[in-house]
Amino acid sequence: MALLRIRKFPDDVLKKPALPVESINGRLAQLLDSMAQTMYAAPGVGLAAPQIGESQRVIVIDTDHEEPGKHLLKLINPEIVESEGKIIWEEGCLSVVDYTADVERAKHVLVRAWTPEQKQIEIEGDELLAVALQHEIDHLNGKLFIDRISRIKRELYKRKRNKMLKEGKADHDERPSKVLI
Ligand SMILES: [Zn+2]
Repeated sequence: MALLRIRKFPDDVLKKPALPVESINGRLAQLLDSMAQTMYAAPGVGLAAPQIGESQRVIVIDTDHEEPGKHLLKLINPEIVESEGKIIWEEGCLSVVDYTADVERAKHVLVRAWTPEQKQIEIEGDELLAVALQHEIDHLNGKLFIDRISRIKRELYKRKRNKMLKEGKADHDERPSKVLI
């Protein structure tokens, strides 16, 4: 296992739809272990493979930081099969430096996925877990939460980010004390 480098906006890999996993093997299990380790170290409550430069449909999520690992989800080819209600959550992202914004999502989702043990499972999520599942599955579709906010806000963020990159402040680790997904 190793800590993986988290790709930051505007890295191209974050815009690319990820490919479905065709075989669940030891290499993939290792990748998921390293992703979980990277997520806890960040710290964040979720991480999708494109965020570490692997364009594959796999995500890890753990919304319970009181007991890390106990509710860790490692999901392969996750798909939202049902969604209900509305919720507005202030989202942040490990790939979007220094920015959070309110995003509207479904309040409840049902997700179907495969596990590293090659079992097909269904996960029901409400509130933060529902938000995290939708946010991570968006990553697999090449979408960031800043694609779901108003154009003005997005342009302002892009400008701020470009300025940071020019000034060489691109990868500083100062983060808002918000939940990062
Ligand atoms: Zn994210």
